[in-house]
Amino acid sequence: INILAIESSCDETSAAVCSNGKILSNRIATQAVHAEHGGVVPELASRAHMQHIVPVVDVALRQSGLQLEDLDAIAFTQAPGLIGSLLVGGQFAKSLSLALNKPLIAVNHMQAHVLANLIPDQKPAFPFLCLTVSGGHTQIVKCTRPTQLEMIGETVDDAAGEAFDKAAKLLGLPYPGGPLIDQYAKTGNPHRFQFPEPRVPGYDFSFSGLKTAILYFLRNAGTAQVYKEEFTATELERKRFIDENLNDICASVQSRIISILLKKLSKAAADLGIKDLCIAGGVSANSGLRKAFTELGKEKGWNTFIPDFQYCTDNAGMIAITGYYKYLENDFAGLDVPSMARGF
Ligand code: ATP
Ligand code: MG
Ligand code: FE
Repeated sequence: INILAIESSCDETSAAVCSNGKILSNRIATQAVHAEHGGVVPELASRAHMQHIVPVVDVALRQSGLQLEDLDAIAFTQAPGLIGSLLVGGQFAKSLSLALNKPLIAVNHMQAHVLANLIPDQKPAFPFLCLTVSGGHTQIVKCTRPTQLEMIGETVDDAAGEAFDKAAKLLGLPYPGGPLIDQYAKTGNPHRFQFPEPRVPGYDFSFSGLKTAILYFLRNAGTAQVYKEEFTATELERKRFIDENLNDICASVQSRIISILLKKLSKAAADLGIKDLCIAGGVSANSGLRKAFTELGKEKGWNTFIPDFQYCTDNAGMIAITGYYKYLENDFAGLDVPSMARGF
């Protein structure tokens, strides 16, 4: 079964081909236009998708060694994401499906992030838990089979990726700042600064308090009233403080985000008695999280799974693998299926 998949939910245009659950190609065009705006500009994203989609699909197909007529279905990201971006990939997939007379498969982007863990030969056993940490979502999901996912916890405010990106912005780093914090944190001391831990019941998360704490901490240039709304530092002092302590600040922020995430995941695993655990989403590319998750897994006796880097941030490979499992269940969509900004 050969599936061509298209992902266009945010600011990467991606196409992939999979054959019986094996990824043959996974092409990703990242949109550079957003960096100078400090975040993704939806209108610019839609236009960039229109420019990229034909060449990206073309290269993915050629690299797979398959022809259009070898395909059994076209899968695409239906939700959630930026509506204009989703529409470009959705209309392209529908046109292809109509022209080739091949079935269409509508894929949920968040389910696909989780199922990226089914791409390698070594797969988690069901039921498994997945901590999905991305730019817009932070979820703990229980996966009973590839097409049956239950969300048992989520963020009540910001997503983990947003926490990384907002912290980076406060530090004067360009968008998206997550990967940069990761880089600076590598040579920093994670115990140097203690950022507060939110108190949220159950398996839910909160990151907006951390953002405020970082804001106040920087405005006080790390002096005594670190988390108080009583600003003592001048702009120059603040800048110098960041310059001189960037690595330690990044390491301390990152370590707090990781401890918040892993604490809830451990609690869920213990309560539900599940030993196969996965992480997924853009933040699962974070080297500190990957390391801490693997080490915690050894300590707790978990079987831990992390997608390859190319399948952590947005990619069509994960859409293809999800499309494959939906194909096996004859779960096809009509040409009238709407793209939707929201929806798990
Ligand atoms: P969603 O999947 O929720 O719709 P999205 O698709 O925009 O959101 P992803 O592409 O899955 O999100 O992830 C992007 C996020 O991952 C950004 O917030 C980015 O900063 C973060 N990220 C990527 N690499 C790293 C890293 N190495 N360390 C920390 N954060 C990272
Ligand atoms: Mg992105
Ligand atoms: Fe994503």
